[in-house]
Amino acid sequence: MTTLTKEAGGAAPAAPGPFLSVRDLYVRFTTEDGVVKAVDGLSFELERGRTLGIVGESGSGKSVTNLTVLGLHDPRTTRVAGEIVLDGQELTGAPERTLEKLRGNKMAMIFQDALTALSPYYTIGRQIAEPYRKHTGASRREAWARAVEMLGRVGIPHPALRARDYPHQFSGGMRQRAMIAMALVCDPDLLIADEPTTALDVTVQAQILDLLKDLQQESGTAIVFITHDLGVIANTADDILVMYAGRAVERGPVREVLRAPRHPYTWGLLGSMPRLGSDVGTALSPIPGSPPSLLAPPPGCAFHPRCAFPREVGGGRCADVRPELPEGRGSACHLTPEQKHTLFVEQIRPRLVQGRPGSRTS
Ligand code: SF4
Repeated sequence: MTTLTKEAGGAAPAAPGPFLSVRDLYVRFTTEDGVVKAVDGLSFELERGRTLGIVGESGSGKSVTNLTVLGLHDPRTTRVAGEIVLDGQELTGAPERTLEKLRGNKMAMIFQDALTALSPYYTIGRQIAEPYRKHTGASRREAWARAVEMLGRVGIPHPALRARDYPHQFSGGMRQRAMIAMALVCDPDLLIADEPTTALDVTVQAQILDLLKDLQQESGTAIVFITHDLGVIANTADDILVMYAGRAVERGPVREVLRAPRHPYTWGLLGSMPRLGSDVGTALSPIPGSPPSLLAPPPGCAFHPRCAFPREVGGGRCADVRPELPEGRGSACHLTPEQKHTLFVEQIRPRLVQGRPGSRTS
């Protein structure tokens, strides 16, 4: 059998610079109500073999960012500015034919809801085999063999048999595995996983996360993991980017950000997470208010209407002046590094530590 995967031609030499670079990305949607500023000057980088976790509430711009990287936005209603470079290739403004060749081949996406992402009319095997055939030129037989191989790789028992099933014959966890097989069938260099485990119970969630880690170790794939769940990020990502109202408000290595977060929004996200070992009846601390409308985001720091600390900054700065995110580890907030440290140590951390196993005093 002719092997028509990318390995057949040998790996292309890596382009200089980061594998994925997003610089000053702006995404605007035109709607009947006005222009939605979905992404507002976002920059980040990702290297091969690493995982970047992007977190934030619904509407923070994390999914839009990644759909834009894949070129899946509607060009009739969406304006994109900025630079997206994948392995040395500029994607912003690239013709649809170029993006089509890259999607599923060099970059792929796992969606949150496998049942709606998979077609009910075709067998699982066919849905995995088709993109392989399209991108590699493999015969039907070769593509089917590859689909069966991929189902086996993602842990589906009796893959040759189960490849003939339709999506409704798979459980939720199996469908998600099938989606992963579909995304990985052409060995993409970049995998974007958008809340891939949100709809699954914790046991299956852990299996899927382990599977992604194993596959990454085998193939050196760069992964962008989108979620609102900081617990998932803690177990999967190397670096973290916290988004609010279309902008990055904090970034850094995942351990550092979770051990000593520097932005009041990240403090709020951590405080609203349920904790294993907390006393029964322990109330969570949700972030007050709602995410802003991106038709007219608040001036200054977009988080200021929900933030507890503008008074510490003083002078109305939070409502007037937009804080910028510095390069490297940092947060977009007017509080001084000393203020952030003191507030975190004295006010935030004691609340976060409460409820961790072994933290009970009574
Ligand atoms: Fe809060 Fe001001 Fe910092 Fe924004 S800039 S997070 S409003 S303290």
